[in-house]
Amino acid sequence: MSDDCLFCKIIAGEIPSNKVYSDDDSYAFHDINPAAPVHVLVVPKKHICDMQATSDADEALLGNLLLKANKIAEILGLKESGYRFVINTGPDSGRTIYHLHLHILGGRQLELSAG
Ligand code: 5GP
Ligand code: ZN
Repeated sequence: MSDDCLFCKIIAGEIPSNKVYSDDDSYAFHDINPAAPVHVLVVPKKHICDMQATSDADEALLGNLLLKANKIAEILGLKESGYRFVINTGPDSGRTIYHLHLHILGGRQLELSAG
């Protein structure tokens, strides 16, 4: 846990969140400012800054993050309609939180836009 990290505080329950899923290594909760009818964030419980901070040693963590996100998308009822995963990395991505997180977006037809 990083003491000054918002998502570490959410994982620890120090800041409230609308939980969707939790297990030993992952936590998922609804985004506070949803960009789609379904917008959930999936985070590893281990504090890691972003994709650029990962290495070969994080292969299991990253594989687990994707597979958990798939499972959570199914829990959210998106299996048939479809969904999008987004991981913002670095300044141009507009990333605001420095704890690795995967966005699950769905619930409507999504346009292929980078904007
Ligand atoms: P980023 O732009 O860093 O990829 O995404 C960060 C996301 O975290 C944003 O979509 C933002 O709405 C969400 N977020 C920021 N602060 C909070 C919070 O306190 N609670 C929740 N549930 N989501 C948050
Ligand atoms: Zn953190």
